[in-house]
Parts: sequence; structure tokens; C-alpha cells
Amino acid sequence: MKWSEMESENETLRKSPSSCKVAVIGAGAAGLVAARELIREGHDVILFEQTESVGGVWVYDPEIEDDDLLGIRKARKRVHSSMYASLRTNLPREIMGYTDFPFLPKEGRDGRRFPGHAEVAAYLEDFAEFYGILNYVQFCTVVEYVGVCKKGNKISWNVRTRRRDETEGGKEEVFDAVVVCNGHYSEPKLAEVPGISKWPGVQLHSHNYREPGSFTDKIVVVIGNAASGEDISREIARVAKEVHISGRTWSSNVDFSEPIGDHGNIWRHTMIECTCEDGTVKFKSGGSVSADIIMHCTGYFYYFPFLDTQGEVGVDDNCVGPLYQHVFPPSLAPSIGFVGLPWKVVPFQLCELQSRWIAMALSGKISLPSPQEMMNLVQDFYAKLEASGKTKRLAHNLATSQYEYDNWLSDQTGSAPVETWRIKIYEATSRNKRHNPETYRDVWPDEDLHYQAFALLEQIDL
Ligand code: FAD
Repeated sequence: MKWSEMESENETLRKSPSSCKVAVIGAGAAGLVAARELIREGHDVILFEQTESVGGVWVYDPEIEDDDLLGIRKARKRVHSSMYASLRTNLPREIMGYTDFPFLPKEGRDGRRFPGHAEVAAYLEDFAEFYGILNYVQFCTVVEYVGVCKKGNKISWNVRTRRRDETEGGKEEVFDAVVVCNGHYSEPKLAEVPGISKWPGVQLHSHNYREPGSFTDKIVVVIGNAASGEDISREIARVAKEVHISGRTWSSNVDFSEPIGDHGNIWRHTMIECTCEDGTVKFKSGGSVSADIIMHCTGYFYYFPFLDTQGEVGVDDNCVGPLYQHVFPPSLAPSIGFVGLPWKVVPFQLCELQSRWIAMALSGKISLPSPQEMMNLVQDFYAKLEASGKTKRLAHNLATSQYEYDNWLSDQTGSAPVETWRIKIYEATSRNKRHNPETYRDVWPDEDLHYQAFALLEQIDL
């Protein structure tokens, strides 16, 4: 069905008693697709966005925060985006976009298969415009408070918002449901390093990294060997004297003795043993360096400063819960849903499916299990996690199970399962990234898959 036909169908749905008044918090990739799915399903939507644009983390902001580059003071001047100037996607565009709105190159824009951040921001703007979502967004509006209100069996939500340019006042509104899409790459998590309080060098978190200039001729220790740690290390190695990456997940089969990288000045180490007052950083794998800068590429905390669920949902060891299938708190479902919490995933597609599930659960097209059944399933999930030797910190890390999860959501919502070509491209990219971290964005062994995917995506009738 074409979007215009769907719009008129929505008019009918809007009048149906199953239509809910829904507040969506945040207009990033998650909030935009949540709004689209909710509108499609006939709900009344207001999308609150604290900045003046859609796109969330993809909207590059040259500003950094004002608390010594670490981002740990709660009352700091906040900057939402964690993108640095040169960032390119780590997924190829044909699997990164939403499934029915292909992320294809456009005339006069960055047409690379792994484009820069501005191209993703432009794609998200295109998406918002195409589906008329901009009409539902209240820009420059910060959601300050979202509190649950229970009267008998009826649950509603008090939402207080404030215009960014107003210091006082605000507006309160009651909603039937809330969809939380505030992102999870803005609240920096630091590594715990023995002796760090007396270490005399400069520290920063990757959230506040933008360009490599200030690293020229410095000796830098980067903590963290996930995507950001690896990419940023390679970028600063072009100008720095030495870069030393400390990776928690590296094991003895990694060669710590030889430098790597185009400039032969990146060394790998295991975790830091301690830092000293004379500037030395000692590694558990042996060896030490006298470093100028420590950069924490150690990830982020889930953070919902506005949310008051009267204790029904919390963050424990960076696991948001209890949540049924990473989305619904059993006791409050479906009146509140979280979109986009899983990591090590292809996020846009996953957000699309989660949003559809929420929209259909709210309109009553999908029945959820009873609160007690959902809670039992959540407890089973935590028990399995523990039995496999994983802490709760890894609860939302889907990695190898992401497609199983996506297909479960597809099944719930009557959507098509994830196409095999998407999985093949994801796997080929992961392999290429592992073996060729310097070049994987520009040299691909899966060129045939890439062109097949493009041919399929070009056929999508918008
Ligand atoms: P966000 O994009 O963070 O959007 C959240 C929105 O909520 C923001 O617009 C924010 O302003 C708004 N907001 C927050 N709090 C409030 C409030 N209280 N009131 C009102 N508005 C609020 N994904 C990929 O698919 N490919 C990649 O290559 C890739 N690279 C990445 C590189 C980096 C450095 C980072 C940080 C992430 C990367 N990601 C990548 C993951 C990326 O986060 C997701 O793709 C996706 O954009 C997340 O969207 P989101 O809507 O969940 O969050």
C-alpha cells in the first residue's frame, strides 16, 4: 500500500476507540520510526525533541561538554551527539536503512557505501519528510518528567515538557502511552583505573572527541577496543607519536609485541594495571608507557533522568529492566515501551520492528502475555544469562542472536522475516572489518552481494 493510501486509512483508524494518545521522546532513528509506525496504526502522536532537528546522534555537533571532557558531572552543559568529524558508518548503507525506505545514494550527496555521518542525518531527514513526521514533532522541547499514574486498571502518563529557551514553567499533558527513544550514547561510562585520580595527564571520553589535531606528537592511551576505540585510535595515530590501545577482550592470541596500523605506531595491550603520579600507565600484559592523554572509549550508560515509573523499571548494572523482550515492563505494558536499547545490532531495522510491535500492542491488534507471564519470561531470560556466565551488563547485547530477535518481532507483527541477503552482508562486513580494520569501508570482498542488494532496494515502490 502506498503512503498516501495509508494516510487516508489512518483517518478512519484515528476515530477508532483503539487509538491512543502517545508521547514519543526523541526524534532520532528510533523515535522517527516509532512515530511512523504509531501514525500508521492510527494513534495520536506527539514527538518531543529537545534539539532543533531530527536525526539524534547523527546530527554532528562540533561543541563539546564543559566538564573537563569526561562527561560525568550531572549538571554539565550537555551535548547529545557523540559523532566525531570524520566518522563513517560501520555498516554498509544497504542494510543500515529502514527496510521499506532504502538508504540509496542520491545525486550530489555522499554516495559511498559506508557514508559519513552527514549522509545518515540527511537520510533520516528525508525519512521524516517523506512520511510527514515533521508535522508531529515539537522541536526544542525537553521532556523533563514522565510519571506513571495508576487509577484502578487504567494507566496513564503525566508528561512535563519545557521549551529549551525557557528557564521556568513548562507544560503538562496526560498521555495514554509513552514510547522512550532518547538514545543511549550520551551518558559516558568511564573505565575504573587504579591510581587515576593522581595521574597528571589529560583524560577525555570519546563522547567529547571531535578531531585529532590536539593529539599531534602525543603519547595516547585509548581504553576500549570496540568500534569507537579501534576507529579513533587509527585516526589519531596519523598525528600522534604513539597510540596504545588497552582492550579488555583481547586474549593471549593477540600479538602485543609488534605495532600495527598504517603508521606502525599503534600498540595493543590488555587492561591497565595502574596509573602513577609520574604519568606512567602500566598494563597487565606487562610493559608501561609515559602517556600524555588517556581517552576512554568505554561506552555509555542507559539514562532516563525524566522517568518516574514508581519503581517498576530501573537500570541495574546497565541493564534496563525488567523488560519483556527489551521493550515492555510487564506491569506497565503496553502503556510504555522502550525502542532501540539492544546493542551490537543493525539498529534501524530493529527499531522499526520494535516500534511496529508497540503500535500494534497499543491498538489491541496484538495481545501480550499477562503481566505475570511476561515477568516469568524476563526472569527466565536473566537466569539463562547468568547460567551462561554473563552479567546483566550484557543483557541488551544481542550480537549473534539479533536476527532471531528480529524474526521473533516479525512473527509477532506479521512482518516478513529478515531477508537472507541482509544477514549475508552483515556477516561479510563483520568478517572484513575483523581482518581489514583499516580498509573495510572501501575494499569489499562482497561486491556481488552489494549490487544484488541495490537491485532489490531500487525496486521498492515508495
Ligand atoms: P539517538 O540518535 O541518540 O536519538 C535520541 C534523540 O532523543 C535525540 O535526538 C535527542 O536529542 C532526543 N532526546 C534525548 N533526551 C530527550 C529529552 N529528555 N527530551 C526530548 N528529546 C530528548 N548505528 C548504525 O546503524 N551504523 C553505524 O555506523 C553507527 N555508528 C555509530 C557511531 C557512534 C559514534 C555512535 C554513538 C552510534 C553509532 N550507531 C551506529 C548507533 C546509533 O546510535 C543508532 O544508529 C541510532 O542512530 C540510535 O538512534 P536513537 O533514536 O535510539 O538515539
